[in-house]
Amino acid sequence: MHVTPAVVVALVGAALVAAPAQAPQAPSPTPATHARTTPAAVVAALSTAATDQSLKGRTIVIDPGHQLGNSRFPRKINRLVDAGGLRKACNTTGTATASGYAEATFTWRVAVALRKQLRAKGATVVMTRDRNSRRLWGPCVDIRGKLGNKGYRGRERAADLKLSIHGDGAARSGRGFHVIVTGRRGAVVRSARLGREVRAALDERGFRRSTYTAGGRGFVRRTDLGTLNLSRIPTAMVELGNMRNPRDARTMRSAAGQRRYARALTTAVEAYLR
Ligand SMILES: [Zn+2]
Repeated sequence: MHVTPAVVVALVGAALVAAPAQAPQAPSPTPATHARTTPAAVVAALSTAATDQSLKGRTIVIDPGHQLGNSRFPRKINRLVDAGGLRKACNTTGTATASGYAEATFTWRVAVALRKQLRAKGATVVMTRDRNSRRLWGPCVDIRGKLGNKGYRGRERAADLKLSIHGDGAARSGRGFHVIVTGRRGAVVRSARLGREVRAALDERGFRRSTYTAGGRGFVRRTDLGTLNLSRIPTAMVELGNMRNPRDARTMRSAAGQRRYARALTTAVEAYLR
């Protein structure tokens, strides 16, 4: 690629946006004096919660789709990048509910809830973006695709898996979720298994499969998505619902709905890595 100063600025900007979130501060240990005054049952319950470290040693990449400021940076997000053997726009603006609640905000909120749940189980979480802001754009799909790969940005060990979170913008009448995995021959076949775990966990939590695409299976393979094509780790993308549908939109806008989506995704991660 012929690198112009503008591209360098764009790349640096994307890199800043894509910097993984800092690990949280470890909670300070409870002073010993507390232990004497806390009822034994409470101590036992607390220690049980603290030992649910089923994801300790695991690294999970979460990709919250789009960025709230994308529409304000058309030149940057329309720049073509490698999407795995084809050229595609760096990123897109994403959709929104009829009342204007942005997909970028929905994906961000679910990602933050998911990050919290995974960290509570001991996982290390890497995000493809670490903020949701009208003043930011990107990162591009090539970065979203490669983040977590062995060797990319100095990563010595590949991350265990990646979940890319989206909301769809289909015709108003259609509802429900669908999972997308790569259809590329020779790509990571484990992605299909991860995708089936995501579908099973969403089924189990009472979310309905898409009524408007994927033939009722809630599962499709695609070959045109850089986020999937460039990933060398098991990766599933999920359109959690149709933001243009009033019933889906209600769930997708609510904090309770967002946590329920996140819980389903946490279940899928645990099931896949078990
Ligand atoms: Zn999207």
